Amino acid sequence: MADKKRGNAPQHMSSSDAAITRDSLYGTLPEPTYAGVTSFMRRKYTQDLDGVDVVVTGVPLDTATTNRPGARFGPRAIRAASTIMAWERPYGMAFDPFDKLAVVDYGDCYFDFGRPQGVPEQIRKHAFEIIDQGPALLSLGGDHFVAYPLIEAHVQKHGGPLSLLHFDAHSDTWADPDGRIDHGTMFYHAAKAGLVDPARSVQIGLRTTNPDTMGFNVLDAPWVHANGIDATIARAREFVGNNPVYVSFDIDCLDPSYAPGTGTPVCGGLTSHQAMAILRGLAGINVIGMDVVEVAPAYDIGEITALAASHLAMEMLYLYASRSSA
Ligand code: MN
Ligand code: MN
Repeated sequence: MADKKRGNAPQHMSSSDAAITRDSLYGTLPEPTYAGVTSFMRRKYTQDLDGVDVVVTGVPLDTATTNRPGARFGPRAIRAASTIMAWERPYGMAFDPFDKLAVVDYGDCYFDFGRPQGVPEQIRKHAFEIIDQGPALLSLGGDHFVAYPLIEAHVQKHGGPLSLLHFDAHSDTWADPDGRIDHGTMFYHAAKAGLVDPARSVQIGLRTTNPDTMGFNVLDAPWVHANGIDATIARAREFVGNNPVYVSFDIDCLDPSYAPGTGTPVCGGLTSHQAMAILRGLAGINVIGMDVVEVAPAYDIGEITALAASHLAMEMLYLYASRSSA
């Protein structure tokens, strides 16, 4: 779908700054990859949600990390890396998600880092105020703790419990009686609070020890490597069924060779190809919300991790555009 401002100019002559100059919310609109305002995928940078199908927002929190901090810079890095993908329509998809969905970049969630106990509520409120107006939300982390208030907002909007489609090296269900702000315990709390239904959820790519699965279905990294992409897709579909699904992708699900820029890397993980193929193969599931978290660009090399995250975020937009109710 051509943008009016592009007129008859050849693609390589398109103007810069589509994030602030584009008229239409639809379509892929090439501009120089190295220049211009770096919204996610050059979508319009706006907080006007009239006619919007999906909002992309950053949640730059990284104080809940166990090991290396730095995921607060994740949203900015993913936006920057996405500019090379925004050059042309995505490869191999049956349609360009931007022809079906009006997607905007809302900017980042604001919270007061000096009042950490108030941050979860500020994230929940930010998310709910957006999805309560109608659009779906694709959030860019931030460390994985942000998924908890994001899921709270989605349950507030859609009811629960939701199915969690969770990609990670870690279960993030370690027991915690005290309600810590911790990126390794939030799915323990999400299950305990009835926000997600472990029996209709699936955790893919795990490769760290936690004897108590809390009833979550687990397709760990060795299982995925032994059984392959198609079997992973088939099992994941069985687990989530037609229940509303929240997709949460911790970038450390990928092997450190595909995602070095993250706080708690673990060897033996998925390739970017496997992860993208699994997401694409799940087209038709009832996705209602999405996040990509734990990109910490200070440890990245050549934008490997941020590129993977922006590709996975695009797969999520395709998954959302392909949901059965779409
Ligand atoms: Mn992890
Ligand atoms: Mn995680």
